Amino acid sequence: MTGNMKNPQQLLPGLYQFLDTCNVYVISRDNGSIAVDFGSGDWLQEFEKLGLPPLEKVLLTHHHADQCQGLLKKRSWPFEIHAPVGERRLIEQEGVKEFWEGRRNGGVPASYSVLPRGLKNVTCNLAGFSDFNWRGERLRFLETPGHGKGAVTIFADVAGRQVAFCGDAAHAGATVWKPYNLEWDHWTGSGAMAAYEGVARLSGPRIDLLCPSHGPAINEKPRAMLKQLAKKLLGFYEAKGSICPDEPDNYHPVKVVGERIQKCLKGVYHFGTNGYLLMSRTGEALVIDAYQGDIPSLEKLLELLGHPRVTAATATHYHSDHSDGLPIVKKRWGARTVLHPRVAEPIRKIGEIDCPWLPSKAIRPDELMPRTGKWRWNEFTFTVAPFPGQTWWHAAFLVEIAGVKVCFSGDNYQPSTRWNGTGGFSSFNGSRFIEGFVASSETILKWKPDLVFNGHNTQFRFSASYHRKVIAWGKKSERVTKALCPSGSLEKDYYLHQPMR
Ligand SMILES: [Zn+2]
Ligand SMILES: [Zn+2]
Repeated sequence: MTGNMKNPQQLLPGLYQFLDTCNVYVISRDNGSIAVDFGSGDWLQEFEKLGLPPLEKVLLTHHHADQCQGLLKKRSWPFEIHAPVGERRLIEQEGVKEFWEGRRNGGVPASYSVLPRGLKNVTCNLAGFSDFNWRGERLRFLETPGHGKGAVTIFADVAGRQVAFCGDAAHAGATVWKPYNLEWDHWTGSGAMAAYEGVARLSGPRIDLLCPSHGPAINEKPRAMLKQLAKKLLGFYEAKGSICPDEPDNYHPVKVVGERIQKCLKGVYHFGTNGYLLMSRTGEALVIDAYQGDIPSLEKLLELLGHPRVTAATATHYHSDHSDGLPIVKKRWGARTVLHPRVAEPIRKIGEIDCPWLPSKAIRPDELMPRTGKWRWNEFTFTVAPFPGQTWWHAAFLVEIAGVKVCFSGDNYQPSTRWNGTGGFSSFNGSRFIEGFVASSETILKWKPDLVFNGHNTQFRFSASYHRKVIAWGKKSERVTKALCPSGSLEKDYYLHQPMR
């Protein structure tokens, strides 16, 4: 849309739009001008050519780098810089430093777009539902969180019109610029709900002209568009709810045999947070999902079993709480590390793929399983397949143990009372709808196991209706999320990873 937009463009007498890494809007009065957002700063050349009164203030709608990266180009500017109160920690120097130091720790980051270093001379004083005096005029601020938890919309009167500068709260076509920014964590709809509330709130006041940070300004029924967007955001929030509504939990009974150790089946034990141990009739043991924090539990279990030889260890997916114990199991017990190619991909070199919960050190397998096919360990034949869901880099293993078909399913599926029935979906984690959860539910429907042994210590009976619901949820969620994308394409606007197939 921006391709055929004029640059700069006069939207109203005294209001200009400059195309930069974001839209920069300038309000000019007799003796001074203010800018809403700053982009790369390249727009200043055009601004100067127009001969407008000098820039006195820059007001930022939110902390994202595309809104304000150009402010880092100079130590001091001849204008004041103001930002929302609630965005302080991701704009000022100290908070930004802290952010980057902790960026790799844990899951979804506090933001997907932060300046490389914080701003020096910024005043974070744009408080929601208050105002600010500029040359006798009131600029009003309304909280519209989403792209930033503290993001604001700025209201101003220009040429007798009420104009709203909404940052990335809304985009033309009742969409949201890069909607993954509404994923504030890896599984809940809290960001979507906050964005919904903000947009619903924004649809209240009279808006003659809505000026978003990306795409065209909107003068045709902006409030109707915002109402439509609010509905879509509610749909996105609902997509973050149960993936298997109305399903019973179907827990499989296990026997506690030690502290944090359960016997799940003859020859199958669960230990710690995520680990499973399978015993072979040869007396050897196999570990599925090895978390560093679970090693003491594994030690106890091995003692209980009379110190069997651990000959192999694998992981359902790359997340550190399922994989970072593999090097220890190898070192301590000599187990070979056997990985599915998908699982091996993000951890053979840490940092190559920017995804959450990476182990701190690279893990290289001694042996790779086939992408789809069979892998044998003693008397057991594992059917292996990619199993994308919570993350793209995930596999599942189907194996018959004493006449019972068990699927080791990692973090994709949970009984319905646990976390909406899933380990969550978020773009940063490489979750996908049709190609992810839907495809994996189709795989497991073909496999028809008796039991599903999942991560985080849940063992439950397989149910076809559960997976038919997941498929329905996945298809609907894909539609709903697509409807939020300005380009209508998840690849372009929502998915952060374009992983190898
Ligand atoms: Zn943004
Ligand atoms: Zn996981």
